[in-house]
Amino acid sequence: MCGVFGITGHREASRIAYLGLYALQHRGQESVGIASVDGGAMFVERGMGHVADVLDEASLDRLPGRGAIGHVRYSTSGASKLQNAQPIRIGSRHGAIAVGHNGNLVNADLLRGALEDSGAIFTSTSDTEVILHLFARSEQEDVETALVDALSRVEGAYSLTALTPSLLIGARDPLGVRPLSIGHLEGALVLASETTAFDLIGGEYLRDLAPGEVVALSQEVRAEGELLDIIAAGPGGAAPGYVSRAPWPAVAGAKHCIFEHVYFARPDGVLNGESVMRARKQMGRFLGAQAPVDADVVVPVPDGGVYAAQGYSEVTGIPLELALIRNHYVGRTFIEPRQSIRHFGVKVKLNPVREMIADKRVVLVDDSIVRGTTSGKIVEMMRNSGAREVHFRVSSPPYVSPCFYGIDTPHKQELIAANHSLDEVRRRIDADSLAYLSLDGLRESVTDGGRKYCVACFTGEYPTPLSAEVASQLERFDPVGNGPAVPAAAGGTGSP
Ligand code: AMP
Repeated sequence: MCGVFGITGHREASRIAYLGLYALQHRGQESVGIASVDGGAMFVERGMGHVADVLDEASLDRLPGRGAIGHVRYSTSGASKLQNAQPIRIGSRHGAIAVGHNGNLVNADLLRGALEDSGAIFTSTSDTEVILHLFARSEQEDVETALVDALSRVEGAYSLTALTPSLLIGARDPLGVRPLSIGHLEGALVLASETTAFDLIGGEYLRDLAPGEVVALSQEVRAEGELLDIIAAGPGGAAPGYVSRAPWPAVAGAKHCIFEHVYFARPDGVLNGESVMRARKQMGRFLGAQAPVDADVVVPVPDGGVYAAQGYSEVTGIPLELALIRNHYVGRTFIEPRQSIRHFGVKVKLNPVREMIADKRVVLVDDSIVRGTTSGKIVEMMRNSGAREVHFRVSSPPYVSPCFYGIDTPHKQELIAANHSLDEVRRRIDADSLAYLSLDGLRESVTDGGRKYCVACFTGEYPTPLSAEVASQLERFDPVGNGPAVPAAAGGTGSP
């Protein structure tokens, strides 16, 4: 859960990066940073908090140059602290480099241990630093090959942007777990986690990076005419100032994260070639066909459940009511009253519209149940608002296995569906009925029958080997956002 952005060949590079990060803010609210290059010099501004809290006119003035990368972070197990904020910049024998990373490496602990044994000093708990150590030690001569060499030793999920005085590099892991797209703004090339970033800056989306693709763009490349056609045509190919390579042996097939479609990505984007909103609505339609119920209103749990609820309502004919209102101004940290108010964490975010609910049989639609705490509290809110019956519908299958590729999840012991039967979950959240979308329904909601997707969180079948350490690593997940960041376990990794 992080967002990355990069731009080259634009005279207001850092300001465009700042805007791009606004469009990616939902991918991480803990820290933000931008690195820029101007001639041979590199500049970095980073801080804890939202884009608007951390960066201002003065900090953008300290980020000159025509190339920039930006990052918004939401940690999984690496602590939420400034040292882990990105981009991370280092000096090396290959020159200066700054990196922004979205994803989680599954062999970072092993690599880190070996690097520390050979004398490496780490300044953060983020696994991105592991990549930089491997880069610094690479015997390859040029920057791009040294970075590829480093990435060839890591396993797991990464979509990253790297900035050097002469290059902007974008790389996507061979499974293509996390998204990364390429576009342009009046000829200045742009990389972004989600296509909505191109919309916000007034740019144009060209295509997604393919799984295992590395693009290197020279800092002064301006993409016009033929070069735009070459880039848009797909991976592979080169032109002055642009190289696209596939340096790793081809894997059996892509494993994009399906949870990006379920919950994480912005609905107004195109992800892995398909509209996020369209897929969400389709999940709701299948859910409506699979698990209809006699009820008066369909109420989405915002924001994740909105489009699935539309689809559910469309198929079942039960009218949709936006009867749960989300407060969008909460942020991730707020001060709780000393004397505890029951369910304060959820109440500060969501409030029901009593008139729409009183005396009604309500179907609540949410995108997922993870721990079951939010759902239980929302069901209680509905009952307190006078609902006669509360039926819960989930537009994804039971969430039974933690993600090790960059989505924040709690330990398996805390995943309610991993430890309880359907009826036990129903009773715990106190719903009159509970149903989930089937795995087939989820797969059919995305293109290609979902074959190119990782569904490990719903099946426990991971697309890469996992070390025992990774499997036991500390994750953190705080959907109501009312707790302090959990510090990393010793040796913990995480750079989502
Ligand atoms: P829970 O209370 O643990 O069942 O949380 C489920 C709620 O959290 C749902 O409303 C989801 O939209 C939301 N959610 C699911 N996954 C995440 C995540 N990784 N981080 C934050 N919120 C999430």
